[in-house]
Amino acid sequence: MISALMPNYNRADLAFERGEGAWLFTADGRRYLDFGAGIATSSLGHGHPGLTRAIAEQAARVMHVSNLYRVPQAEALAARLVANSFGDSVFFCNSGAEANEGMVKMIRKTMAENGHPERWRIICFDGAFHGRTLAMISATGNPNYIKGFGPAVDGFDHVPFNNLNALRDAIGPETAGIIAEPIQGEGGIRSAAPDFLPGLRAACDEFGILLGLDEVQTGMGRTGKLFAHQWTSITPDVMSLAKGLGGGFPVGAIVATEAVARNMRPGTHGTTFGGNPLACAAGNAVLDVVLAPGFLDSIVERAAVLRHDLEALAAEFPSIVEEIRGQGLLLGLKLAVPNTAMQGACLAEGLLTVAAGDNVLRLAPPLIVTPEDCSAAVAMIRRAVTALAEPKVAAQ
Ligand code: PLP
Repeated sequence: MISALMPNYNRADLAFERGEGAWLFTADGRRYLDFGAGIATSSLGHGHPGLTRAIAEQAARVMHVSNLYRVPQAEALAARLVANSFGDSVFFCNSGAEANEGMVKMIRKTMAENGHPERWRIICFDGAFHGRTLAMISATGNPNYIKGFGPAVDGFDHVPFNNLNALRDAIGPETAGIIAEPIQGEGGIRSAAPDFLPGLRAACDEFGILLGLDEVQTGMGRTGKLFAHQWTSITPDVMSLAKGLGGGFPVGAIVATEAVARNMRPGTHGTTFGGNPLACAAGNAVLDVVLAPGFLDSIVERAAVLRHDLEALAAEFPSIVEEIRGQGLLLGLKLAVPNTAMQGACLAEGLLTVAAGDNVLRLAPPLIVTPEDCSAAVAMIRRAVTALAEPKVAAQ
């Protein structure tokens, strides 16, 4: 008989009762070091006092009022995102896919309002992941997500990631904009080459189209800057956020320049739950930590040590780990053995990780992870790699 919970996930047979910092505990007292952070989402780890207090206090006062009224918590969160980004205005929603859907709508709407309704197509990249809604499985650069759900939603053209010539060739009279991840997360922690985002910006400016960045996974401090594109010289016209924004509370956002946001007049777009007081209290509590002086720099420092230790491990076990990828606390081990085997070996050592495409094991610990947690994780990965490297003893 089918389970009451729909069988669309491949769940490990593990249930966590509580968490503290980067650690999760089962009801029977086993503890796991969480280097998956709920797929790059629990940015402040588990049981963070500031975040849990903010949520509890806001829940006791008022959770939801709808967007028929002003929401001071949303106004504050939007102002802080604007103050710390290229953006001039923010729309709140509930998930990454929803943020990306809205981002596409804003790109098309801006083109239409600027006298180019014929420009409606979006260029996306092979290996991209933008979410699971009908349009976003078409934007996502992997046909597996569409199988059985077709036909694909029209309007998304795909070109190889990190190939600016292919990108420029793909821009046509119907192109409205480009959407890219600064680091492809689900696709295998594949970083944009140094000239790639500047090249996208230049192409957008030359052809009069818009640049949208999907920072759902890379944003909110994950790479050591508040947004990953801040490592480059360029800014997008619009950007999607979710995952770490609420530290585990569901909240997404679209950050846009005034030239884009001014087209979103009353009636153009909306969502019931988006930007409610509770979600925005969570977002503000996350920003209290991430924007505290020195916090982002400390991510860079801790991540540099973690990466150095992982590089050493890769050099020691080249038959298992081919390469270390990524930036900040979004790292990938490109493996020569199946990533699921490595994930299982890590789990056996008490380390939670997340598989990614291209046979990569993803590490995305909470941003509050300590140097001791990182050393413990490397020791667990070392034991896991050693176990995989040992020749199997023949069964007796
Ligand atoms: N965009 C990127 C880059 C993501 O990594 C994800 C989720 O993994 C999404 C969009 C979709 O986000 P959500 O699952 O919140 O809809």
